[in-house]
Amino acid sequence: MVTVNHNYLKLPGSYLFSTIGKKVRAYKEENPDKEVISLGIGDVTQPLVPAIIDALHGAVEEMAHAETFHGYAPDLGYEFLRRAIAKNDYQDRGCDVAADEIFVSDGAKSDSGNIQEIFGTDNKVAVCDPVYPVYVDTNVMAGRTGEYNTVRENFDGVIYMPCRKENGFLPELPSEVPDLIYLCFPNNPTGSAITKDELQKWVDYANKNGCVIIYDAAYEAYISEENVPHSIYECEGARTCAIELRSFSKNAGFTGVRLGFTVIPKELVRDGVSLHSLWARRHGTKFNGAPYIVQKAGEAVYSEAGKAQLKDQVGYYMRNAKLIHDELTKAGFSVSGGVNAPYIWLETPDKMTSWEFFDYLLKNANVVGTPGSGFGSHGEGYFRLTAFGTYENTLKAIDRIKSL
Ligand code: PLP
Repeated sequence: MVTVNHNYLKLPGSYLFSTIGKKVRAYKEENPDKEVISLGIGDVTQPLVPAIIDALHGAVEEMAHAETFHGYAPDLGYEFLRRAIAKNDYQDRGCDVAADEIFVSDGAKSDSGNIQEIFGTDNKVAVCDPVYPVYVDTNVMAGRTGEYNTVRENFDGVIYMPCRKENGFLPELPSEVPDLIYLCFPNNPTGSAITKDELQKWVDYANKNGCVIIYDAAYEAYISEENVPHSIYECEGARTCAIELRSFSKNAGFTGVRLGFTVIPKELVRDGVSLHSLWARRHGTKFNGAPYIVQKAGEAVYSEAGKAQLKDQVGYYMRNAKLIHDELTKAGFSVSGGVNAPYIWLETPDKMTSWEFFDYLLKNANVVGTPGSGFGSHGEGYFRLTAFGTYENTLKAIDRIKSL
């Protein structure tokens, strides 16, 4: 008789964004005359920049001719892209990362969900709370956690590291030593950033205790402050304890194009085995390469024109972030994030729960955000707004919230 993977049944039913979607649809049906503005989901709204469009057109044209046609891409990525990444994202910043330590993929969601496969199921996992849900859910699916605890509203057997106002939305080194530590900076959902000195403490802790840090730097392009590291490899000793995940979604608008990469240094060895070789084996077995056309578009991200155009695009979103941050602060909200990240994290007013504030904003301002409790129990009492809307809609939404 066929059985299913019972670990999947541990996952609580309703997914955050589908609940939000249902509530918004119901409100719109009842109030067809109202214009609802979403500052909720973290998807981008600006079109691909000209340098990327040109590269896509060029690659499509190549595919039209036998002499320049490309079939299966190399499993680990085309050399032209791996070299451009290694140079621009790492070597030019003084980080020791080589092209053959880069694994090109279809995005950071897949990589952040799949990376756990190369580790034993007996490893103990630590995550921030609130957290990007993929890290936890994929470890649940793999059987690396206990059951869902309805009292604590999280999973047994996972080390949750609370990130709240009291600790500046930064996790503290856990007293119970985990094996795998997921860190994401700049952070989704809190918008917090970590300084190089603070991150160095995590690297030292991981090296001392034999942990592996899985460092998600999907929002690296939004860093504006000097002392905030763009990569964990800026820290001394990171090559022996850290894996880094990156995405082209938020720095270049590739949410619908799909491209990302993982870095695993060759020195990273656990249990006597090179994690680089394990991930190469996994990638080669289960992934047939990101499309040539998309990798050519990725290469254009690092061209002079691409860099200049993307700097403006990130600047456009960060103008929204500043607007939301400054105007809501002036209006008396307790606001954080929005300086090195496209997310603004606010405390709900009048002790409302995250969902109460969601309903209140939807009904009274026709603005949609994301309830903090959807990212973990320590997100309760908080609310996330994103800077990925158009400037005009962001302005309108903030005016409405201020006038409440
Ligand atoms: N990691 C974090 C922290 C994210 O917030 C997101 C997307 O919202 C991703 C990864 C997924 O990125 P990608 O579009 O490359 O799959």
